[in-house]
Amino acid sequence: MNISIPDVFRALNTMTLYGDVFRPKAFYGGVIGLGHGRASECIGCGQCEGVCPQHLPIISLLKEASSKLDT
Ligand code: SF4
Repeated sequence: MNISIPDVFRALNTMTLYGDVFRPKAFYGGVIGLGHGRASECIGCGQCEGVCPQHLPIISLLKEASSKLDT
């Protein structure tokens, strides 16, 4: 779905760690503007989780990101 997962997590982490909303949303909007998919477009296929070296729960993190960034 061409989701830039590291960039989505960067925005989510900034929101979580610093309580900032404006800058992470602006950054995320810029990433989407470059043509990447929204976090909400994840179809849960699991391909990324199978190859993630950090074994992150990417699908659930994208759902969290979508609830905070796609609103
Ligand atoms: S679960 Fe599938 S659609 Fe969702 S981010 Fe991973 S590879 Fe993309």
